[in-house]
Amino acid sequence: MGLFDNRFASKNAAMSRAFSIDSEKDKQKRNSPREPAAPKMGICDKCHKEALLRSYRTREMSVSDGAASFGTVVKHLCEDCAPRSKRFEDANVPAMDKKQVKNLMKFAKKGLL
Ligand SMILES: [Zn+2]
Repeated sequence: MGLFDNRFASKNAAMSRAFSIDSEKDKQKRNSPREPAAPKMGICDKCHKEALLRSYRTREMSVSDGAASFGTVVKHLCEDCAPRSKRFEDANVPAMDKKQVKNLMKFAKKGLL
């Protein structure tokens, strides 16, 4: 029993070590500074007129050579083009994520088969 216990314990220790390294990385990622979302003058990405702009982050997926990659795209939109309603977020963001997840699963399956 002693041998089994030792092996089990060392395996467990290795796993928890790996886990703590991962969560340490996550912490660093979370602590990285974010751009302040202050409005500033510029050209709107949608209507191309000069106005006070705010930054909006959207997640987009691009596919090249059968490989899917996710990226965060920052769009600068004026007040007129800004997605200001809660309904916009509810309607578009989760639907896009679902589609992305579905696509990702498809590509993941292809990769595995
Ligand atoms: Zn605009």
